[in-house]
Amino acid sequence: MIPNELSNTPLVCNHCSHPTVKGGILTVRHIVALALALTLGSLIAGACSQANSKTSDDADSAQGSPTASAATPPTLNAKLADQAKPRVNNPTPTTAASATPTATTSPPPPLPAPTPIAIVLPQEPLAFEETLEVAQALAANMILPSDCGNPLPRPDLLPNSPRSYRSGIHQGVDFVCPSLGRSAVAALDGRVVQIMDNYRHPTPNDRLQLLGVAAQLAATPPFTLLSLYGNYVVIDHGITPFAGHIISIYAHLHEVDSNIRIGQTISAGERVGEIGNSGTAASAAGDVSKNVHLHWELHLNNLYLGADLSTQQTREVYTTLFAEAMR
Ligand SMILES: [Zn+2]
Repeated sequence: MIPNELSNTPLVCNHCSHPTVKGGILTVRHIVALALALTLGSLIAGACSQANSKTSDDADSAQGSPTASAATPPTLNAKLADQAKPRVNNPTPTTAASATPTATTSPPPPLPAPTPIAIVLPQEPLAFEETLEVAQALAANMILPSDCGNPLPRPDLLPNSPRSYRSGIHQGVDFVCPSLGRSAVAALDGRVVQIMDNYRHPTPNDRLQLLGVAAQLAATPPFTLLSLYGNYVVIDHGITPFAGHIISIYAHLHEVDSNIRIGQTISAGERVGEIGNSGTAASAAGDVSKNVHLHWELHLNNLYLGADLSTQQTREVYTTLFAEAMR
């Protein structure tokens, strides 16, 4: 019979609360019982140790311990789950140096994933009929960007006219002014997206060198073209449901008005600056009163309106575009 003090001893393991044995008075039965108990205790302690080890692993996994993942290769599901986590929610890499094994707080809930871009703009020029529809739709809200002259009768002042001096094609409409002092105004409501108001001219010879590269390429490189705009303003007119993304450019300005700043909203008819000839050969040669004109462009989905159209089609498109404004 096992003594009461032994049989009644609470069987509690110090490590894991599993039942085990405490000692009592040493009798033969005690010794036998104690031996059995100690053996049983060792087995239980071993089981406890394994259980603790597993519990420790589980806890480390929950805390993202690098040692746990290093010891046990992640399952495919774990890898996929990890890949599915938005990286923006875990700016601190979980590395051996940065992980905090003693951290007890739960990680913050994941932020919602960024909304994907829903609008894919066409990359190709529109056909003539489609371009005409866009011009008709825009015409109702259009205001002439300049009151200098009427460019429509002259194909050389419209898009798609060759510009041999820079080995390229005209992308805009030129409003030819008799002198300085005329205003360039926003053609549609929008928001100013770019300004160049401190243009520094190249020397005439440097300008020719840049144009020499264009001649070799048989095309005007984009930044060379930009360098020929002089002072300019770009207005973003947003995305229209019937056409796409629209911007307009006001180039060769003598000055950009000082109140114009990037990001501001602007209304159709609101002045952006004084028309001049900055960026032209005359201006580079020091004559700011010669060849004064507003070079104005309307871009649809990153291409000028009327790209690839014939001279007659281009004139029809821009006649339609300005029809309401010229009434
Ligand atoms: Zn022009």
